[in-house]
Order: sequence, then structure tokens, then C-alpha cells
Amino acid sequence: MPIAPPSEVLLDNPAMELMDLFGRMRSLADAHNFQGTLPAVWQCSDESQGIKQALFGYAFDCPTFNLGRVGALLDPGRLTPASHHGQDLVILGGSHHGIHEEGGIGYVERVNGHSNSCCSMLFRVVEPYLTLYRRAATLITLYREVDGIKIEIPYKYLFRQPPGDTPQIHVLLRQLVDGTAIRESSHGKVYRLSAKFADRHQLALSDLNKEPRSIGTLLDAHSFRFIRHLDKYDPSPAAILEASVLDFFPDIVTSKRPHRRLADVNTWRQFHLLASYLTDSFDNSDRSILMIAGLTLDHSIRRNTFVPQFGFLLDEGKTLQARYFGPDEVSEWLQAQPVFRPQHSFLEYAGAG
Ligand SMILES: [Zn+2]
Repeated sequence: MPIAPPSEVLLDNPAMELMDLFGRMRSLADAHNFQGTLPAVWQCSDESQGIKQALFGYAFDCPTFNLGRVGALLDPGRLTPASHHGQDLVILGGSHHGIHEEGGIGYVERVNGHSNSCCSMLFRVVEPYLTLYRRAATLITLYREVDGIKIEIPYKYLFRQPPGDTPQIHVLLRQLVDGTAIRESSHGKVYRLSAKFADRHQLALSDLNKEPRSIGTLLDAHSFRFIRHLDKYDPSPAAILEASVLDFFPDIVTSKRPHRRLADVNTWRQFHLLASYLTDSFDNSDRSILMIAGLTLDHSIRRNTFVPQFGFLLDEGKTLQARYFGPDEVSEWLQAQPVFRPQHSFLEYAGAG
């Protein structure tokens, strides 16, 4: 892996009620003297994000501008029109995740009464990688012999194929074995288990006997990687998303909550992408920009709470002094702000009251 995303523990901040979060963001914008503020979101187009988006506009008394698309991907091309519509910008973004989790996948009940994966787009992206990993974790086996622990690796994980249109898992032999194969098995090769690996997992291996046992979760993120031919000209959100997180899939699929981990890794990537666009585009402008990114938890298709993970504040275009707030400080920063409450009702704001 090139660089590691922030750990799952670090990103698991307490969830905030939406109107508390938006009220605190509004107080921050007011304290920094934001003018002509345009609220903007980058989030999935899922219906479960609709009420959140409407309430965000309500808190800033202006309907929201959409900077994103399905899968909570940022569309940088929308930043310029947004900057023509507002003087200052307040941006809320990130992935979403169904709060009901089963087998590491998040679900929400849809209007048709069925429970579906949520974010379904992220589920579609992670599913083939998860299947490959779980199969390998089952089919690679360990057992103990008198002279030490052996690992049996099926040929399908030993033969190398060039990258194709579907993902492949490549087991990294140097992480798992010592030396060359000591014998053939019916469908693969048997090696001595790496002494370093055995040391690292001493406790988990202590009751291993001569009966072969699946390597399971001991097949950690350092022991394999995924390869896939990516078409960099494919404009579909799935292709863009996959390309942006491909290197992080070993981290994602080995998580106990792979679906949520993908959501968080995606938010982390998109937040830094947008922060970089903002500092490049608004350097020396007189624009002020506040951005909060994090994970929306979908309790239902109507009700969400929000886990703040990243913050960014640009004061009057002074990009060198732009402030970044990581997962360990963003919640505290928000909690320190008073909660602004709109004086008029939502229907009055909507021009329907
Ligand atoms: Zn979604």
C-alpha cells in the first residue's frame, strides 16, 4: 500500500444530529463573517440523502448546490459554477452508510419495504474484491507437522495472469512462506510458513494441529494485493471510484466492516481532492470556504446522523493559512461552536408556508 488512510478507530467519531451539525457550521460561518453564502454538497444521489440536503439549505437559508454524484464522488467541473452563484461557500460532503449492518455490509429499508445495501454503489464496487479475498482466506490452509507449520496455497493463487477487466488477487509469497515449495499437493503447493508470519500470529496459531485449517483473517492486508486493468478514460462513477481506491482494497476487505471502510476511504480521498482544488482555485481570492466531510449514517431513507471526520477553513482566500482539521480534532472544533437555529419554519424557508 502506498500511504495508509487514517485508522478505523480514528475515523469512528461520535455521530451528530444533523441540525446540531448544520447549526454549528452556520455559527462558524457567521463568526468568520461569511457573506452571500452558498451551501454546497458532494454526496451520493441516493434518495436517503435528500432530506439531509434540504435541511442543510434550510440552516443557511439558501437551497444547496450539488458538487457531487452517485457514490459521493466530487465533480470538480461543478466548482466554477458554484463559485459564480455564491460569494462564500459552505460545503458538506462524504459517503453514506446504512446503519443496519450484516456480514460487514450496511443496509437500509427502502420505500418499497425491502432492505437494500446502502450505499448500494459502494457495495457494488467492493463486492467482487470481498468475494476474492474471502475465497482466498478459505482456500489457503495451514496445518502443523512435526518440523513446523505448513501452508498450502492453491495454484490459482500462484499463477500470475496479466491484469484483466476483472480484479484478481495476488498472494505475496514472500510475506507468507519461507523458501521454495517443499512438495506438491493435489491442487497447489506446500511451503514452510514464514517464521516472521508465525511469530506475528503466535497466539492464533497456538492450537493449530495436523488438520488443515483456513488461514482466515490471518491473511492480512500485507499478504496480498489486487490487480486489475483500469480504463482511465471510462467516465462511469464506478470506474472512477475503483481507480481512486484500488490500492486501498487490501485494507478495506480485511476490515471487519469493509463496506463502511470503503465509505470512509472514499471520503478521505475526495476530501483531500476537493481541498486541493479549493486551495488552487481560490488562492488570493477574497473567498471564504468552510468544508466538513464525514460519514452520513442512514437510519432510514429520511433520518440521518453525521460522523464528522475532516474539516477545512479558508479565510478570505488566504490559502497559505488554510486550516485543516483531522479526525482527531474536527469533532472538538464543531462541539465548541454554538448551535444556530433558524427563526422561520422549513416550509417558510421553502416558500410554501
Ligand atoms: Zn449511495
